[in-house]
Amino acid sequence: MSYVDEVYERVVAQNPAQPEFHQAVKEVLDSLRAAIERNEEAYRRDALLERLTTPDRMIQFRVAWVDDKGQVQVNNAYRVQYNNAIGPYKGGIRFHPSVNQSVIKFLGFEQIFKNSLTGLPIGGGKGGSDFDPKGKSDREIMAFCQSFMTELYKYIGADVDVPAGDIGVGAREIGYMYGQYKRIRGVYEGVLTGKGLSYGGSLARKEATGYGLLYLTEELLKCNGHQLAGKTVAVSGAGNVATYAIEKAWQLGAKPVTCSDSAGWIYDPEGIDVALLKEVKEVRRARLTEYAAARPGAVYTSGKGVWSVKCDVALPCATQNELHLEDAKLLVANGCIAVCEGANMPTTADATEYLQQSGVLFCPGKAANAGGVATSALEMSQNSERLSWSFEEVDSKLKGIMVNIFHSVDNAAREYGMEGNYVAGANIAGFLKVANAMTAQGIV
Ligand code: NDP
Repeated sequence: MSYVDEVYERVVAQNPAQPEFHQAVKEVLDSLRAAIERNEEAYRRDALLERLTTPDRMIQFRVAWVDDKGQVQVNNAYRVQYNNAIGPYKGGIRFHPSVNQSVIKFLGFEQIFKNSLTGLPIGGGKGGSDFDPKGKSDREIMAFCQSFMTELYKYIGADVDVPAGDIGVGAREIGYMYGQYKRIRGVYEGVLTGKGLSYGGSLARKEATGYGLLYLTEELLKCNGHQLAGKTVAVSGAGNVATYAIEKAWQLGAKPVTCSDSAGWIYDPEGIDVALLKEVKEVRRARLTEYAAARPGAVYTSGKGVWSVKCDVALPCATQNELHLEDAKLLVANGCIAVCEGANMPTTADATEYLQQSGVLFCPGKAANAGGVATSALEMSQNSERLSWSFEEVDSKLKGIMVNIFHSVDNAAREYGMEGNYVAGANIAGFLKVANAMTAQGIV
């Protein structure tokens, strides 16, 4: 049995009932075969893949908090510190009922390679809780965030582990967590990113993942003989990533025509009205039915369906495993030429394979959505310098990083004889840097 298969079997046996984690490890290891084979003896002797797939540590803790009725609530919370070979652990915090060990480990594992691809000195981590922020009052959100940080503070620090936002964790939640960290530790340090602008946040961080996704998509299309301007774009999600992907798509001359949330989706043939979307989602925190109610030409449909719309480019920006094989078939039948993942692992393995085999340009999330964490690393730099850079400065660095990511992914795929396979290219380019650092640092 090959080294890669042995390690995958070991991961499954040692981590039973963690399907998302198995899926992420399989996808990465399968595409690393060519890179592993070139150095298999040394990697096997050093148990490099066993060490890479086993987190440095997985912290699980209880979060008890009091709701508005005076009832005590209890949630599970996690932080995985996966690998710090190239820098302090870095990765978001997710608040969503679906959060469990499997989801956190899949996200943390993927984060290692994504962070490596940015070219910046950041290791891989991830965290979260099964707490559901939907329908909670501001006071309840604050109570939860404070209790969460009262435990998490022991394990993080500006040079140790620097969490950020993710699903269900935006500027409001980061603010409450930062306040509690500062209160307990008594230090004013860049321990979280995604902070508000008045207390150490970076301009363009909010926009970074969505904008970065479009910068990379534009470069991908350009290098394959297409241009983004004039293209029709289907986007899923209506959160942070989706909103700013839609905004940048417009700015680059494309027309985004869809968005979605967990209840339903919008088809707006005139193109999504970004100001209205922000008003509904960021200000009112309401459902997309309110978007449709305010926009006569837009059609709201409950349930799923974004991928049935005819488009040139598809950008899944909601959550994991949201684009299935049947969706991929619809996209191909409708003439879609590129799929770039704004979310983490939104495309199932069989759908990815189908898209690639059908000649669709497919860029995985660890490359395409790396603009968020890259800009978080820029926020860390600004905090260390005690300086704030202008929006234009951060945005132009972001664009440079995304263009570089595309080319390192493209080059790695070519070097290993898999031209155009950006899944393999992203995993190989991300892996080699981490593997070299791990080797140089000895058996730890
Ligand atoms: P948000 O919470 O801001 O938005 C998430 C969006 O996806 C919402 O519209 C939400 O709908 C929808 N959604 C969430 N879960 C589901 C589900 N199970 N089924 C259907 N729809 C769902 O999160 P972000 O925009 O920050 O994150 C989106 C994705 O991008 C995630 O995969 C995240 O890991 C990834 N990502 C985010 C980065 C960032 O900087 N924020 C960086 C890199 C990746 P509803 O409101 O109804 O729940």
